[in-house]
Amino acid sequence: MAIERRKSKRSVCNECRVRNTDVSPKRLYPCQLCEGWFCEYHLTPKLVYIRDLRSVIKDPKWRLFVEKEIKRDDGHPCMPYTRYKIKEIELEEHAEQELMTKLLSPPKRVRKSRDTQCFIATAVYGTQFAREVGILKNFRDLILTKSLAGRVFINAYYIISPLIVHIISKSCFIKSIIRNFMIKPLLHKLKEKMVV
Ligand SMILES: [Zn+2]
Ligand SMILES: [Zn+2]
Repeated sequence: MAIERRKSKRSVCNECRVRNTDVSPKRLYPCQLCEGWFCEYHLTPKLVYIRDLRSVIKDPKWRLFVEKEIKRDDGHPCMPYTRYKIKEIELEEHAEQELMTKLLSPPKRVRKSRDTQCFIATAVYGTQFAREVGILKNFRDLILTKSLAGRVFINAYYIISPLIVHIISKSCFIKSIIRNFMIKPLLHKLKEKMVV
């Protein structure tokens, strides 16, 4: 949170008064969210302690964030900031759940074979119906196609993959290299993202 230094006034910081019974006048700055005035040490907004917050949040990453915020000595409890953060946490948890459901669900319809096949993964796993191939296809359809870089990658992939497939089909060794060092780590990353 950027500190707005243009506006300031000299007065007693409420946080200093409540926490340290310090009533000496200091230079105060307005919080851009709740519009309260605080000394530089107490200016950063932090979560207002809400009893149920810890039980509501399931994501360990967010739990850690909440724990840290609650223990922080600086900053001031800021209600608009808390509301904003709770929304962000809810949205992220909701998005992750949706992504997990989508990635694990089988592709809805089969389009032209060029569009639906994952040539390299299929060649490596021997069949396009392997679960791993399904996850990779969903990853491509749901995530890669959403960005320009992803679409460029997909197109490049379809241009070079016939050549790679030709090479793979001749060697079990290359198949196992690709399976263990490229596809497995990618699947692992995807699963990690989904399970959290
Ligand atoms: Zn203060
Ligand atoms: Zn505030």
